[in-house]
Amino acid sequence: MVYKKVYLKPGKEESLKRFHPWVFSGAIARVEANPEEGEVVDVFTSKNEFIARGHYQVGSIVVRVLTFRDEPIDKAFWVHRLEVAKDLRKSLGLIGNPDNNTYRLVHGEGDSLPGLVVDVYDHTAVMQAHSAGMHVDRMHVAEALQEVMGDVVRNIYYKSETTLPFKADLLARENGFLLGGSPENVAMENGLKFHVDWLKGQKTGFFVDQRENRRLLERYAQGRSVLNMFCYTGGFSFYAMRGGARLVHSVDSSAKAIELTNENVRLNFADDSRHQAYAEDAFKYLDRMGDQYDLIILDPPAFAKHRDALRNALRGYTKLNAKAFEKIRPGGILFTFSCSQVVNKENFRNAVFTAATQSGRNVRILHQLTQPGDHPVNIYHPEGEYLKGLVLYVE
Ligand code: SAH
Repeated sequence: MVYKKVYLKPGKEESLKRFHPWVFSGAIARVEANPEEGEVVDVFTSKNEFIARGHYQVGSIVVRVLTFRDEPIDKAFWVHRLEVAKDLRKSLGLIGNPDNNTYRLVHGEGDSLPGLVVDVYDHTAVMQAHSAGMHVDRMHVAEALQEVMGDVVRNIYYKSETTLPFKADLLARENGFLLGGSPENVAMENGLKFHVDWLKGQKTGFFVDQRENRRLLERYAQGRSVLNMFCYTGGFSFYAMRGGARLVHSVDSSAKAIELTNENVRLNFADDSRHQAYAEDAFKYLDRMGDQYDLIILDPPAFAKHRDALRNALRGYTKLNAKAFEKIRPGGILFTFSCSQVVNKENFRNAVFTAATQSGRNVRILHQLTQPGDHPVNIYHPEGEYLKGLVLYVE
């Protein structure tokens, strides 16, 4: 197989030599033969040496590297990458675990498959393309997925309508099943059941990345009054209930999210009066609430999607956390998160530090949290470390 070539400007191969998987538009001298959006291309240095092969896309990241070796991007390639991804999840004890059939099987760059996300919910894999190339190759990926996962994956739902670059001229971008079509949508995380709305829900239907952090929360819940702010489908809430919380209040501005939360709580704890859910804006709720909570979770959506929004995002985190510090009971525990990729650990910690100073309370860090192993960080792509969390004791 011969691929079209993209040539780099002199000296622009340095990051590729360190296996960073992106080629930015500024690094490119010329593109040969006008490749289509999503086509596989070869990257050559200015000295005419092969250096990488990946998906082409018009935009600031022009090539997303699939391999640094001269190997064909064919069925064997996809099967091999997915086998490695599966093996990693196996090492984590995530495959064939009757208590937990929910996990991320493919985490983009973290699994050397930039632009591809696959979450598994029991027998359904929800596949998301974030790049033109993964959209173009979706059927190849689906085929390989079937081969590698065998009977574990009986349905593949493709959900990329909102994640594909909207400017790219791509055909057949609508959501739909590529395999099977089962409406069965109850999955299990650490022994707790939840509905997944892969048809309409955010992301792939559930936030799989908080699994371990939810489990940690459960250990702190005994006898506490819990506020789960930005609850979405209620993940932290049902763990808090199993952990023996005295009461759990879930808040999200989306009425649909509140509906899903109520449904999930009912699935696990029918007729349990400890839980209440409210569809309300976070800042309004934090302003009007009293000081009844001694365990608060703040897991907001990404405040900054781009680097230029960083400063505003940090102000947002400070404002939000300051409200929690102001109201949380003495001896309270705060689980606070940021999932913005452009906000790094130091930035986030500083924002929370500023909020703590404003409240004047004594605050101690108990745990520093991140994403779980099924959302691995490629060591050559540190940007992939996106989830940051702190568990704080507030005197
Ligand atoms: N903690 C959740 C994931 C949170 S996702 C989990 O464990 O699954 C972020 C959520 O914040 C979304 O459900 C979104 O509807 C909600 N949200 C966004 N802006 C909000 C606001 N201003 N007030 C309250 N909720 C908000």
